[in-house]
Amino acid sequence: MSKQDVNEMIQNIRGLVQFHQELGVDGYPKTTGLVNFLRRDTKKTGSPENNAGHLSSDAKKRTAKKEILIDVHDDVQKCRSCNLHENMIYKACGQGPENAKLFIVGEWPSMEGNEAPDPFKGDEGELLTRMLGAIDMKQGDVFITSIVKCCAGDSTPDQAAIRSCLPFLFRQIETVSPKVIFSLGLLAAQALLNSKESLLRLRGRFHTFKSLSGTNIPLMPSFHPSFLLKNPDMKKGSWDDLRMIQKMCRK
Ligand code: SF4
Repeated sequence: MSKQDVNEMIQNIRGLVQFHQELGVDGYPKTTGLVNFLRRDTKKTGSPENNAGHLSSDAKKRTAKKEILIDVHDDVQKCRSCNLHENMIYKACGQGPENAKLFIVGEWPSMEGNEAPDPFKGDEGELLTRMLGAIDMKQGDVFITSIVKCCAGDSTPDQAAIRSCLPFLFRQIETVSPKVIFSLGLLAAQALLNSKESLLRLRGRFHTFKSLSGTNIPLMPSFHPSFLLKNPDMKKGSWDDLRMIQKMCRK
C-alpha cells in the first residue's frame, strides 16, 4: 500500500468516525475480530502517529524540492552569464514533478506561435509524447528541461553558452534526483557526459552521470525528436533505448 493510499485510508476512517459520532455512537465494542485487525494493521504499517510523521516528512521533502526548483527558475530569469542573453527572445527553465523518476534533457527551448516556450514544441513535442506513451508515461510524469535555458532563435548555442548554463541543469538534477536521465540530441549527450564522441557511439547503452552530491545516475543518450522526424528509419533504435529506460525506471 502506498503512503498516499495510507493517508487516504486514515482520512476516510476519520470521516467515518465523525459520521458515527454525529449519529450518537460514542464507542465501539472491542470484539476479537477488531483486536486482530488492529494488531495486523499496526504490524504492517506502524502506528497511525508514526505514519503521520513519516508522511509529513515526505511532504516536507517534496516542498523543499519545489522551493529549490523555484530558486533555480528565478536565478535563470535573472541570469546574464552568456552572450545568448543579449539576443534572448525568451527563457524556459523546464518543468515537471519534483520527484520525477525520468528526467529528460533536450538542447535548447523553442516556441511555436503564442505557446509557452518548451524544449520540445510542435511536431517534436507530439513525437516525444508518443515515445513516452509507448513506455506507459505521459509528459506530466517526467521532468523536461534543456542544457541551455535561453532561446535566441534557431542558431545552435556555442560551447561557452552551454558551459555557462549547465550549473542550472546540474542543480535541477540534484534536486529531482531521478532514477534515469534521458538525454535527447548530440549536444545534450556530449554536455552531460563531458564527451566529444558521436551520438551513434554514445547511444544504445547506459552511461553514468555523477550528480553534484556524488550520486551515480544512469544516463541514456538517444536521438532528438527533430532528428527522428527527418530520419524515421532511426525510430527503431530510439524504441530500443526507450525499452531499456522503461526497465530501469521499474527497478
Ligand atoms: Fe544564463 Fe543560460 Fe541564458 Fe546564458 S543561456 S544567459 S547561462 S540562462
